[in-house]
Amino acid sequence: MLNIVLFGPPGAGKGTQSNQLIEKYGLIHLSTGDIFRANIKGKTKLGVLAKGFIDKGQLVPDEVTINLLKSEAQKVENPKGFIFDGFPRTNKQAVALDDFLLEIGTSITQMISLDVDEEELKSRLELRAKDSGRVDDADPAVIQNRINVYRQETAPVKDYYSGQDKWMKIDGQGTIEAITQRLFDAIDSL
Ligand code: ADP
Repeated sequence: MLNIVLFGPPGAGKGTQSNQLIEKYGLIHLSTGDIFRANIKGKTKLGVLAKGFIDKGQLVPDEVTINLLKSEAQKVENPKGFIFDGFPRTNKQAVALDDFLLEIGTSITQMISLDVDEEELKSRLELRAKDSGRVDDADPAVIQNRINVYRQETAPVKDYYSGQDKWMKIDGQGTIEAITQRLFDAIDSL
């Protein structure tokens, strides 16, 4: 199986690029952010719980997120592989993901970070707020909180994978097509 963690701060382009990768490699896209948003829209119990954290720019608690991710991954029969987008976001989630993949007889192939500078990230989130209707993109204080949480809790997850010699970064700036091509090249070289 090919199992990629697509990594980067809010606005790095993980969702956009995941959509390009699933087609070429036949992978299953697991975005915890998308799953939470679908639950919020459907007004499920999980959605109500998650909304309280997401609207403030905080992480949803690990236990909830880990259980959710596992149950979504288990729904898929004979997957060729997964793209994890927005997960793992803490070291605890990374350990849980390794344990889970081991149970199903596979492992992470590579974490790929999309490298984008902070000015560019902020302007992308501002643009996205205009058409996505995402509450967490609309308020500068919430965006700042997400960036802070990313720095403190999520960025260290990179070290978890580089410790396993499974980390690389690619330039996340330029046209969508150019970045996709860099990702194809990176994955094909694995
Ligand atoms: P972005 O990367 O643009 O901030 P996402 O769509 O990945 O957005 O996530 C939106 C929000 O959902 C996050 O700010 C967080 O509150 C919550 N969330 C998503 N994934 C996780 C996760 N793995 N652990 C905890 N919370 C998460």
